Amino acid sequence: MRTSWVREINVFQKPTRSINWRIGLVYPNSYSVGMSGLSVKLLYHLLNQHQNIFTERIFKPNEKNVIARSLETDSALPQFNVLAFSFQFELDYINAIKMLQISKIPLFTKDRNNSHPLLIAGGPAVTANPFPILDIFDFVFIGEFESIADDFLETLIDSKFTNIHDSIAILPGFCSSDNYVESVKTIVTENLDAVNYPVAQVRPIYGQPQKKIGLDGYFLQVSRGCPHGCHYCLIGKIFRPHRERSITNLQQLIISGNIETQTSYFSLIGSSTADYSKINELITFFLEKGLRFTLPSIRVDSGEEILHLLKQSGQNSLTIAPETGLTETRRAVGKKISNEQIYSFTSEATKSGISQLKTYFILGLTSDPNMEAKAIADLMTDLKLKNANMKFKLSITPLVPKKGTKFGTQCVDYASIDKGVKFLKKNLGKNLTYKVFPTRWAVIQAILSIGGRELAPIMEELALRDGSYQAWRKTLKVDPQDFYQQNYCS
Ligand code: SF4
Repeated sequence: MRTSWVREINVFQKPTRSINWRIGLVYPNSYSVGMSGLSVKLLYHLLNQHQNIFTERIFKPNEKNVIARSLETDSALPQFNVLAFSFQFELDYINAIKMLQISKIPLFTKDRNNSHPLLIAGGPAVTANPFPILDIFDFVFIGEFESIADDFLETLIDSKFTNIHDSIAILPGFCSSDNYVESVKTIVTENLDAVNYPVAQVRPIYGQPQKKIGLDGYFLQVSRGCPHGCHYCLIGKIFRPHRERSITNLQQLIISGNIETQTSYFSLIGSSTADYSKINELITFFLEKGLRFTLPSIRVDSGEEILHLLKQSGQNSLTIAPETGLTETRRAVGKKISNEQIYSFTSEATKSGISQLKTYFILGLTSDPNMEAKAIADLMTDLKLKNANMKFKLSITPLVPKKGTKFGTQCVDYASIDKGVKFLKKNLGKNLTYKVFPTRWAVIQAILSIGGRELAPIMEELALRDGSYQAWRKTLKVDPQDFYQQNYCS
């Protein structure tokens, strides 16, 4: 029986008597964060493809110290045979640990037995660096799950709970703490058209009419990986090569998704969707069908035609990622975009009637974040002067080095980044609105992104406290910035 507090469509329900395996698909963050990404919708669909396996979704409860329960049947974590955790961000490790602690599931693999659920972790954070959670989960999955999904379900069906560990261990991409090696091959879905993709997507139903595309649209994955390979970016590094769905496949998904997900709103998913080789054809298809869509971001070298098509579609706001204010710095980190291209794109966008431009920047790409801050302030002040009617929104994030990228082995000087942030706050001017990701949390994320097995007991203690920044300081017994410097900057 469904007990969820949220009204949704395309929720799986299966008769209890026919179920051999119960999987809890755990997204260790809130419902709105989990349902605003593709991973939950995709995994929920893939893991429910066998009639004798029932997968239910579990999110971090909104209230503190409450046992996490599934949306579908209100079942608690220990009631499942398998708990599959999806980690998009490293900071969610603490939430996951807390959820296990509250549910009284022993945290470390060595302390669990056949009476406990089997714990599996996957997602980009885990694929890049599974070490912090390697001793906690029975298995980490390295890569993209679609191409192995059927084998995984068949393996469950053919196994008993007593031998499930041995059966999963031989599946590609699944590693345990005993057999993990850094050279493990990342599982990559070669042909996106050939794998199962949800047409009837689970989504919440809100009041009508819908004002904007949110959690209630259809999530259309256009591509995987990225052709650009910027040196700081995980996506361009670990999920290679860049792959695209065919235009025919996308058109079929749009037509079916429109009917079966009961929506005329489409969120295009992919790291660099505007780079899709048939993007103009795809947008024209949406326009012809009278359907609305959003692009996550656009490269400034995408050409003028796309701007006009986007305007025709009713889109007033665009997102670009200059990352830094200087052409040379951008080139040095693998982003081949010049300031001239940014100026010319912004002026074309203004002429096309786009009224808002969101811009993403990273501080810490060089050894002189203060110089970077000044360059960002100069670029944005100049853009605002030249495009007075455009509303600019800046998002500034301190660099988080990711394992496997060129920055993964470099030491980030967060004290200097903090000075750069202060400079920007003083100099960006009233005409520009901005949001800065706190440096202190970037430090924590950096620790989790590049750290190793030593972090598991630290995270255990942290989650017992409350995961706050003060709790980090108490647990590490030094300021997290000093911990980062002492342990990961040799
Ligand atoms: S273009 Fe974007 S997604 Fe692609 S590698 Fe660069 S930062 Fe990553």
